[in-house]
Amino acid sequence: MNNTSHENSQNFPKQINRRKFIKQVGSAALGTGLTLGLLDIIGCTNKNIITELSSESKNNIKNYVDGMAYSPLGKTNLMVSRLSLGGDRWDPIVAKRAIEMGVNLVHGSVGYKTMESQVETLGDQWDKFWYVLKHTGKVEDMGKTLDRCLKTIKQDHVEIMAFVVRTTGITDYDHVKSTFEKLKKSGKVRTLGVTVHTKTVPEVCREVIAADIFDMILTMYQPAKKNAIDKELALAIKKDMGTMSMKTAQGVAKKDISNAIATALADGKICTVLKQILSVEELDAYLKVARESQYNKHSNQVSIDTSVCGACGKCLVCPQNIEIQEIMRCATYYKSNVQACSTYREIPGAATVENCINCGQCEINCPRNLPICRTLVSAHEKWKYIA
Ligand code: SF4
Ligand code: SF4
Repeated sequence: MNNTSHENSQNFPKQINRRKFIKQVGSAALGTGLTLGLLDIIGCTNKNIITELSSESKNNIKNYVDGMAYSPLGKTNLMVSRLSLGGDRWDPIVAKRAIEMGVNLVHGSVGYKTMESQVETLGDQWDKFWYVLKHTGKVEDMGKTLDRCLKTIKQDHVEIMAFVVRTTGITDYDHVKSTFEKLKKSGKVRTLGVTVHTKTVPEVCREVIAADIFDMILTMYQPAKKNAIDKELALAIKKDMGTMSMKTAQGVAKKDISNAIATALADGKICTVLKQILSVEELDAYLKVARESQYNKHSNQVSIDTSVCGACGKCLVCPQNIEIQEIMRCATYYKSNVQACSTYREIPGAATVENCINCGQCEINCPRNLPICRTLVSAHEKWKYIA
């Protein structure tokens, strides 16, 4: 087998091999998904970047729009736009324009309170995109989450259900798989994915990849710290899992968000960047970099806003396993109490300040000297008891 390591992917002559490959494999491969085996045959390790498609292939892509870049999402068999819509805030005008411009993947969660708005905005265009539903909570509640979602979005199925894993050692993957299989049999969902929603990203990634039950992985992936998770993503790609990134621009100065997205997309480790987008200007800027996403086009140079949490994970030293990063994210990025509250309440009580022993280790280790303890207390006071 040819070498599939990321290190060697940097020398991949993508234009020539891609062109040949697409011509050779054509729409048949795109319709059924591009397998790593086929790509290995032609020496292509950077399979998430496709620079040219045959016209037949274009016809097989949902909501294909000329100029938009698409990527095979591993063994999900979907060809997805390299920018996708997510987040717990939703702007109808932006969403409509994104679909018009060829975006074909939308993410939602019952807890986000934006699902109703997603239906109002895109209800008549639901056939133009795939819907990824996040499930937070117990395995046995997956069916309830799915039913609530389907009722709200007025559809009979979603494409992907992304099971949230926050920490290692507690998930019964056999149970997840058997529960999902029942739901799949009922026709309500087609593909099982996983969301690594945690402070221990590489460890959890390794565990969920090893579980071998997920076709897609959605994880935090930040260009400035990409080395921390590159090996895991390479492993996911080797197993032909689709890769999606979130929180890609967390802690990045506003002017550099486009560059962060471009960098995340540039080396092919990430099929699509999931992004909350709240203005047309932002959307256009991100679409531009998604369209131009080609290998090595962008550098990793982004300036950092050191007054907010950069999700570096140094506060992982917390002996009480408090979800510091997630709470800091709520405190930093949510302008509305309702949005912050719904996200905050997804965090188990034992992972909030309720369990803090005031050891101070988090603040000692935080390279940005953030007032973590104070923030944890005020987050709890504000959002735990809000009506
Ligand atoms: S002060 Fe609290 S949150 Fe910070 S490390 Fe100690 S127990 Fe964890
Ligand atoms: S150490 Fe500080 S900057 Fe790093 S994740 Fe924790 S709170 Fe954020």
